[in-house]
Amino acid sequence: MQSEIEQPGITPAVPRLEIRNLVRRFQGRAVVDNVSLRIMPGQVTCLLGPSGCGKSTTLRMIAGVEMQDSGEIWVDGKLVCDTVFRVPPERREIGLMFQDFALFPHLSVAGNVAFGLRGSKEEKRARVAELLDKVDLLQFIDGYPHQLSGGEQQRVALARALAPRPRIMLMDEPFSGLDNRLRDGIRDETLTLLKEEDTAVLLVTHEPDEAMRMADEIALMRDGRIVQQGAPYNVYTRPVDRASVAFFSDAN
Ligand code: ADP
Ligand code: MG
Repeated sequence: MQSEIEQPGITPAVPRLEIRNLVRRFQGRAVVDNVSLRIMPGQVTCLLGPSGCGKSTTLRMIAGVEMQDSGEIWVDGKLVCDTVFRVPPERREIGLMFQDFALFPHLSVAGNVAFGLRGSKEEKRARVAELLDKVDLLQFIDGYPHQLSGGEQQRVALARALAPRPRIMLMDEPFSGLDNRLRDGIRDETLTLLKEEDTAVLLVTHEPDEAMRMADEIALMRDGRIVQQGAPYNVYTRPVDRASVAFFSDAN
């Protein structure tokens, strides 16, 4: 039974992912310093900033492999983690893609993509085939990682990350290891697939180009803080201070 009256065009604005005032200290220094973010389903937010500013630490806390000193993480309006309550990483329905994405070498391509899946053998095989078809690698379903190029392996990693239909995808410089020629194609393919699945994406990068290309929203980070947040064009054309100007011009 439907408990609420739905009005066309009006959807309740519950973020898929919300972090509130996240803080992480190492040796007394706040490397993540009061970071807050909201990401809606289907939205790509880029956490952009120079090396060492706290991007990966932020991502690891959301993934649940690092514990925050204070602050809260919410998924679809439900508390996932604060300083006393903690949903374990494997129950957060979060997909991960990192630069060293390492497929399991001893598993077939199908085995890799099926890794995080539950259900019957037939259901898993169908989902694996669906995703390999989407990344255009169905012909390699029974192949092994070493038989694939770097770009192909990256696409298998993408299929693997998407297979369990994660609500959220966390990506830490996932395209850094690829050469320029491949990178654009894979970025576009990744975006298309993520949008199709309505996944909320937090993409970490130190490259303004990548953020400009992929983000619906950019959160510019420096020294553990988000110093500016908004549409890519606005962040790029209206830097808030000299350090931001320097960051954007150094990167070019
Ligand atoms: P980014 O991903 O933006 O390059 P990180 O989140 O990896 O930055 O690191 C932010 C800061 O925290 C860095 O100065 C790093 O050296 C420090 N740091 C990260 N993890 C640890 C740790 N486990 N112990 C001590 N310092 C750490
Ligand atoms: Mg990092």
